[in-house]
Amino acid sequence: MSKSHATDAKTNEYLERYMEGVEHRNPGEPEFQQAVFEVAASIFPYIADKPKYHENQILERMAEPERVMYFRVPWTDDEGNVRTNRGFRVQFNSAIGPYKGGLRFHPSVNLSILKFLGYEQTFKNSLTGLPMGGGKGGANFNPKGKSDNEVMRFCQSFMTELYRHIGEDTDVPAGDIGVGGREIGYMFGQYKRITNRFVGVLTGKGLEFGGSKMRTEATGYGAMFFLRNMLEHAGDSLEGKRVSISGSGNVATHAAEKTLQLGGKPLTLSDSGGFVHCADGFTQEQIDWVKELKNVRRGRISEAAAEFNNIEFHEGKRPWGVEVDCALPSATQNEVNSDDAATLIKNGVKAVAEAANMPCEQAAVDAFTEANVMFGPAKAVNAGGVGVSGLEMSQNSARIAWDEDHLRSLLEGMMKDIHDSCVEYGTQESGPVNYLAGANIAGFVKVADAMLSYGHV
Ligand code: NDP
Repeated sequence: MSKSHATDAKTNEYLERYMEGVEHRNPGEPEFQQAVFEVAASIFPYIADKPKYHENQILERMAEPERVMYFRVPWTDDEGNVRTNRGFRVQFNSAIGPYKGGLRFHPSVNLSILKFLGYEQTFKNSLTGLPMGGGKGGANFNPKGKSDNEVMRFCQSFMTELYRHIGEDTDVPAGDIGVGGREIGYMFGQYKRITNRFVGVLTGKGLEFGGSKMRTEATGYGAMFFLRNMLEHAGDSLEGKRVSISGSGNVATHAAEKTLQLGGKPLTLSDSGGFVHCADGFTQEQIDWVKELKNVRRGRISEAAAEFNNIEFHEGKRPWGVEVDCALPSATQNEVNSDDAATLIKNGVKAVAEAANMPCEQAAVDAFTEANVMFGPAKAVNAGGVGVSGLEMSQNSARIAWDEDHLRSLLEGMMKDIHDSCVEYGTQESGPVNYLAGANIAGFVKVADAMLSYGHV
């Protein structure tokens, strides 16, 4: 056996033992286990010859949240019935700054999903280069079909418990699935009322009360900047590229808009009812219509097919069967499985960029890697959202507001820096960049070295 094979075998043995421990300590938490495995598989080979990380149990400590809050959220519906939901906040890692990460309101929310998101957020926030730790929270509340008043009462009740755990220098939540401008407004209003303080404790706020320009657009725009950087690094460009996008929320609609602006063709959007396909590529007018449908009328994506002649609706299906050059899963976790990956590869996809968090199952990621499809992992691709949230925190602390052009160029620069960090840590001897390993290692180093400086805390 050669020396490098012997090292590989030892590294794999460590990884296996480590994952056994993670699975044992976190039973019934498949999403969290999947996220830890994905990171550990990249980090173990990197730290094989760096004993300080092993000796100080860095990976073991990183896989334990610093603190988890779990609380009851009672509220009253419009018929006067008392309803009860579960609220959570996972404060994962504050080594490099206050906990920072979104709040998700969706019936599927549970501890496994929030731990996976908080864990990933730690590395993502590190990649932005800004001083932000990782956290995530939310509730198993479904805003769909609820009146504005019901959503307001829920948000107020949720914040009535959450407020004691957060603060502008402690933990700064933002939006995520099911938490947009409306919910952030209700929660910020309640925080201000309870504490009598007007501070930047949440990001994604309205522009009238401390929000940042470009925050709404940042995740989707940033994802497309990243995809463009990947293509250009490989000597290609976005010009004329057909792009399939899933989801029709904040991330998906802004990704579609930026695809158009950068010369690409956005062909699909979706929701949990199915996907819509426009073979000509959506126009800006159609994207604006979808934004209004989702944010104001709170309708279903199927309605787009009734409104526009050149749009077809495919009920109950995901968009991965459409022939494209690039795919941008932008809805939710594990929405691309190995069959979807095989179809995309068969149809000649060149690049896949995860705009949602962990939308590709591990088997799908492996299939893309094996087929030499460029693969951008979520923690790098969608980091523009939290990046501009970090800039919202800076503006709030300084009590100033930057203009849109300045913020757009900061976002574009940040995505370029993140891309270049992935290239620095992920370029393989054979040539192509392993963006997954690059993002994991670049995110890890800063957090791990800060943790080493603190001793065993
Ligand atoms: P939104 O709530 O605005 O939109 C979510 C979209 O995904 C909707 O179209 C929704 O359809 C669809 N969706 C949600 N769950 C499912 C499901 N189980 N199956 C199929 N479709 C589903 O959320 P965002 O756009 O903000 O977030 C999308 C993804 O991006 C998430 O993974 C989030 O964590 C990630 N992200 C978001 C950031 C942000 O700034 N907003 C920042 C970084 C990451 P339906 O209405 O039918 O549920």
